[in-house]
Amino acid sequence: MTFYRPDLHSELLRLCMLQSSEYKSPKLLLGSEVATVDINNATVVLTNGSSISGDLVIGADGERSLVKAAFKELDTLRPAPYRIFRAIVPTETLVDNKRQWPVLSLTTSKFAIFRKGTRILSWFEGRDGFLQDLEAGYNISLDEDQGPETDPVKVKQKMLHTFSDYHPSILAALRKAERVSDWPVYYSTPLAHLHKGRAVLIGDAAHSMLPTTGQGGTQSLEDICALAIFLHSDSLKGKRERQVEERLAMFEELRKERMAIVQAGSGIMFGDEERLEKTKWGQVLKRAGIRDGEGHLRFLYQYDIFEESRKALEEGMRAKARL
Ligand SMILES: Cc1cc2nc3c(=O)[nH]c(=O)nc-3n(C[C@H](O)[C@H](O)[C@H](O)COP(=O)(O)OP(=O)(O)OC[C@H]3O[C@@H](n4cnc5c(N)ncnc54)[C@H](O)[C@@H]3O)c2cc1C
Repeated sequence: MTFYRPDLHSELLRLCMLQSSEYKSPKLLLGSEVATVDINNATVVLTNGSSISGDLVIGADGERSLVKAAFKELDTLRPAPYRIFRAIVPTETLVDNKRQWPVLSLTTSKFAIFRKGTRILSWFEGRDGFLQDLEAGYNISLDEDQGPETDPVKVKQKMLHTFSDYHPSILAALRKAERVSDWPVYYSTPLAHLHKGRAVLIGDAAHSMLPTTGQGGTQSLEDICALAIFLHSDSLKGKRERQVEERLAMFEELRKERMAIVQAGSGIMFGDEERLEKTKWGQVLKRAGIRDGEGHLRFLYQYDIFEESRKALEEGMRAKARL
């Protein structure tokens, strides 16, 4: 299943603002930039000087997270030696051209990857097929790199030039792109802790990774589902502060174990697992029993985060009861 990012954001916003008698509706402070974070007192100070305190700070502030920085631990975030042109093409601009039909037959309702040497063009649909999302990755030399192209005309020219030897149908689609951006890619190795004091990290703040397997956003959603189980108010009774601490430790254990494998495999194209099994990342997959593309896909997608979180919570509570 693929989403056009603004549609996913709109749906998450709608769900977030649903009214219910079971919980308090959140208050959104749009356009508010956090300047500092105090993880011991769950307090953030905004750039406008106002301060907000709560029970817990959930650091969902991306790979350059201020909340992560407040943990004061080693952050291994570094640039990857490649970048990605991201292009959106309205489907209607392609269907009128009969020469596009063969390529559309390969990509309709599918996640297609066109690979040539070190370049990888991923093609998938958004907005129920009304949009085509083309992501064209290419290698860069970090020593000589001048940074991403920001001029909208030049960035499109650069994309067409970089992929000029691709099939004419693919090039024709790239030419139809309305908006093109040139995205730098950063990644990190697993963090020592996902929670500290009265703060917890989720999403890219917790696990920035390479985009080859398309897992960054997916794992952010898994984080949210896990937190929803571990911190559900029905199961938090009595000494809540102590319990929240215990629950966050359970969350960390469950997520760190899975994340170490997801992050290691995030730059390995499905099907390359065996070829790369002697590399540092390939070794992690091998130890986890992932030997080929199918195994890798099973590991990523045949996983029920709600079920796994419930199991971990029950086991954690049983272990506590035995003490
Ligand atoms: C080229 C590319 C392709 C990708 N493709 C895929 C894919 O196919 N599938 C997939 O699952 N993932 C993909 N990803 C990864 C995905 O985009 C990220 O993993 C995801 O956006 C992480 O979400 P997040 O909310 O944790 O962080 P972000 O999306 O970075 O959001 C962080 C938010 O915090 C805000 N923020 C930061 N600092 C502050 C502050 N001080 N005060 C207030 N607000 C702040 C930012 O403005 C931002 O809105 C891709 C990434 C790239 C670069």
